[in-house]
Amino acid sequence: MDCIFCKIIRGEIPSVKVYENHKVVAFLDINPVNHGHTLVVPKEHFENLLDGGEEILKEIMLTIKKVAWGITRAFDLKGFNVGQNNGAVAGQIVPHLHWHIIPRFPDDGLEPWSRKEYKQGEMAEIGEKIRKEIV
Ligand code: AMP
Repeated sequence: MDCIFCKIIRGEIPSVKVYENHKVVAFLDINPVNHGHTLVVPKEHFENLLDGGEEILKEIMLTIKKVAWGITRAFDLKGFNVGQNNGAVAGQIVPHLHWHIIPRFPDDGLEPWSRKEYKQGEMAEIGEKIRKEIV
C-alpha cells in the first residue's frame, strides 16, 4: 500500500514510536501542534472512521487512553485534546485512519473552534434529520 502511514508501520520511513502492540502503533507527529503531539494509528489500512471495524475501534480507544496517560505523566499535563479528521474537507491529509493526541499547556496560544448559531426551529429539525439516519 502506497500510504505514508503504512510505510511507517512497515518501518520503511523513520518515525519516533512511543507505543506499539499487534494492532496499533503510536508515533510522534512530525509537525506537532504542541511538543508531544502523538498519532495513534491502526496497523491495518482503513481510510477513515467510517471504514474501521468495531474491534479495531475498541483497541484504538484503549490505546489512546494508555498513550494519553503516558503523555500526561511525561509532561505533567493538566489537559490534552483528542482529535480525528475524516475526509479532505475536514482537514484529513493522510488517508489512513488516525487520532491526534495533542498535549495542552497553559497559554499555548491554540484557539478553540469557532462556533455558529441555530435559527429558531433549526436545531430540532437537524436533530430529527440525523436521528432518522442512525442505524
Ligand atoms: P490529518 O490532517 O489528520 O490527516 O493529519 C495527518 C498528520 O500526519 C499531520 O499532523 C502531519 O503532520 C502528520 N504526518 C505526516 N507525515 C508524517 C510523518 N512522516 N511522520 C509523522 N507524522 C506525519
